[in-house]
Amino acid sequence: MTTRIDPWTSAGIEDYSKLFEEFGIESFAELLPHVPDPCPYMRRRIIFGHRGYVPVLDAIRHNKPFGVMSGFMPSGRIHIGNKMVMDEIIWHQRKGGSAFVGIADMEAHSVRGTSWQDCRRIGIDEYLLSLIALGFEPDGHIYFQSECSDVRDLAFELGMKTNITELSAIYGFSGETNIAHLESALVQSADILQPQIEEYGGPKPVVIPVGADQDPHIRLVRGLANKMRMFRCEVRSVHNTQQYASVRGAGGVHVSQVAVRQSTRQYISVRGKSAPPAALSAIASEIAGMGYSVKQYEEHVDLFGAGMDAFEAIESAVRRIEIEFGGTGFMPPAATYHRFMSGLSGGKMSSSVPESVIALTEPPDEAFAKVKRAKTGGRMTLDEQKRLGGEPDECTVYELLLFHLVPDDAHIAEIYQECKSGSLMCGACKAHAAELMADFLRDHQQEREIARERLGEYGLS
Ligand code: SF4
Repeated sequence: MTTRIDPWTSAGIEDYSKLFEEFGIESFAELLPHVPDPCPYMRRRIIFGHRGYVPVLDAIRHNKPFGVMSGFMPSGRIHIGNKMVMDEIIWHQRKGGSAFVGIADMEAHSVRGTSWQDCRRIGIDEYLLSLIALGFEPDGHIYFQSECSDVRDLAFELGMKTNITELSAIYGFSGETNIAHLESALVQSADILQPQIEEYGGPKPVVIPVGADQDPHIRLVRGLANKMRMFRCEVRSVHNTQQYASVRGAGGVHVSQVAVRQSTRQYISVRGKSAPPAALSAIASEIAGMGYSVKQYEEHVDLFGAGMDAFEAIESAVRRIEIEFGGTGFMPPAATYHRFMSGLSGGKMSSSVPESVIALTEPPDEAFAKVKRAKTGGRMTLDEQKRLGGEPDECTVYELLLFHLVPDDAHIAEIYQECKSGSLMCGACKAHAAELMADFLRDHQQEREIARERLGEYGLS
């Protein structure tokens, strides 16, 4: 049976390892040792996978341009799960990335029927105040989809590179789906590619921090980024098979022998099916100027003798020429994938089940009470808990501590061990977590009021 992941209706992902096998999401653990000063979500393996993150990591490590982008649908209250994405955006911004945050008002309007006024109010009052309070800097870009002509224009162009069948296969659209909902999928794709348009410095690696349920978007947009290209650079192989026949006579005996020698030669091919011929010629002469032997055909240019280490330089020259001829040069966007937090009452965290989630805007004493009522991984009796220990991996309170409330790795490891060994009881643990949660909300809500005064710095009012 295949795992279906759908950005709007996914009920939760049970087995993350399936994602590696079925969808080609790569493990983040292999990159972790190379990430300078990784954020807690990385260190704690909450970010478990990625797609195409290596160029982003390279940019972070070598101070090259890169971007980070995510969008928030202005619907309901901002909650602790949204905080995770905001923290990831801010971490990348602090590492030197150009940060983009889009308020997906077109999506909320088309899918949820939220009025434009409510989209604006919820977008600012719920989401953007918390984003700024958590540390988003004013040099980042905040926008509402409906007010961003670049995004809407790009969405139109992207619409020419896909069709209803492709979108339906990804999102499960049917004949009843309204067209604006369909269009909002393209607008979200444009959100992701916008950081690479000329106005923002052109093509660059851009990472989208998402939950695994958003992977269909990411795959769609990576495909669209490629389809928007005039050219693609490929490493190709040519196989040569040569036969040698020898007939020798020795002592009157004839011996005939056929030897087969096979060899494989790799070469770089720059291919552009419907690219302007003048652009292809410009690429051929640029590459020849770099000292490589070039053969130009009607729709492609082949280079022999260039080592594979030259690939990046050639790709970047091709991208530059493509842009000179009116192309986009888009790079496929990258994604990091994080685990979902469970709902406090067990099951999936959902804004429509208030008991399952803590809103960043809710009164601290209500949040305190919710944590005290949360589902734990504790045993039926105190005696059992002392004997067998608790199950922190099954505990929503432990998740809160791990994801948001205990910044110190040694401290969280201590809580885990004490729970497992039976020396920590759920009552005391929950009281501690509830206290930390209420303290966090009190501080955050004060920061939100300061952020309200600073909206003008972000071009908002
Ligand atoms: Fe969860 Fe704490 Fe109970 Fe362990 S002791 S199961 S971490 S509430």
